[in-house]
Amino acid sequence: MRIPGFSEIKRLFSHDVGIDLGTANTLVYLRGQGIIINEPSVVAVNQKTGQIVAIGTEARAMLGRTPGHITAIKPLVDGVISDFETTEEMIAYLLGKATAGTKKVFSPRVVVGVPSGITNVEIRAVRDATRNAGAGEVHIVEEPMAAAIGMRLPIHEPAGSMVIDIGGGTSDIAVISLGGVVASKNLRVAGDKFNSDIVSYVRNQFKILIGEKTAEFIKTTIGSVLPTHAPLEASVKGRDLVTGLPKEVILTDTDIREALAPSVEALIEATREVLESTPPEILSDVMHRGAHLSGGGALLKGLAELIENEINMPVHVPADPLTAVARGTGIILEDIDNYLDVLIANEDELPPKK
Ligand code: ADP
Ligand code: MG
Repeated sequence: MRIPGFSEIKRLFSHDVGIDLGTANTLVYLRGQGIIINEPSVVAVNQKTGQIVAIGTEARAMLGRTPGHITAIKPLVDGVISDFETTEEMIAYLLGKATAGTKKVFSPRVVVGVPSGITNVEIRAVRDATRNAGAGEVHIVEEPMAAAIGMRLPIHEPAGSMVIDIGGGTSDIAVISLGGVVASKNLRVAGDKFNSDIVSYVRNQFKILIGEKTAEFIKTTIGSVLPTHAPLEASVKGRDLVTGLPKEVILTDTDIREALAPSVEALIEATREVLESTPPEILSDVMHRGAHLSGGGALLKGLAELIENEINMPVHVPADPLTAVARGTGIILEDIDNYLDVLIANEDELPPKK
């Protein structure tokens, strides 16, 4: 009989958890089970005790229906930890929830996705927050890398794989080859910006103030960055800025296209810049094999086709772009020895600089 090694034994007696801490949605993957938590990144905090009372949909539902000392916080703004303590508690809460029910001997091994272009200080903050939250081992992976792995792109091959991840706060554009990011760009133009573009457009064109939620609804229902076969329409209610009274207007897909045009152009420009800084040999297979969209923004109607026309190469959208990063952290956990090269090295483990 073969005697199992320590790491195999440890695997049996510990939980391995992958976390996609998105600005809009937080997903948790539990090794052996798959995605077990998929919630909006909102936490309800009891201001008296500082403790998290609920996360996600539950936290959002509590808003306005709870005593004054419970407030809702979005701990991540623009993909960066804006509130360290809340983030730490949120991770602790997620780990607790993910590992509840079964007792395991070792503390969980955790893989966390972070936006590309994050600073060393921010990486340390995520690492510390996760460790303080009870993780035994913390591994950090850049989100576009995790998304590429989640979409099963051949990241270890010398061929180039291009990922365009459009989330809530940030978009990450990266070209990956041989397990590393060879060119990338991170910009604060993503789903939230699209929403605020719609709010501004309606205010300027119709002198009506609409809320962020309404804008998001409009974006996901009639928003299309290319002309649609039949025109799409939706009526929205807002406050008339002249009279102060409620007013209703009809918006069309053409309005939304106009509203989103500058942001969509910025996204395409950033994609071009990443292609421009990609080494020529890698560029030729990227052009041949195309780019892959992930994140909620990938679902914006017409976006893949528009990018395809603008950069002159195929652009693919996976079946479930919203879960690509979380699935990627899961694939890493299931086979961590084969993915050590894609993880961001822990500073403490790096050889000293000369
Ligand atoms: P993050 O990784 O930052 O948490 P996600 O990848 O979860 O972000 O994407 C969330 C964003 O995707 C939100 O801004 C949301 O409005 C947008 N989104 C979700 N579905 C659609 C859709 N069908 N069309 C356009 N945008 C969408
Ligand atoms: Mg994301």
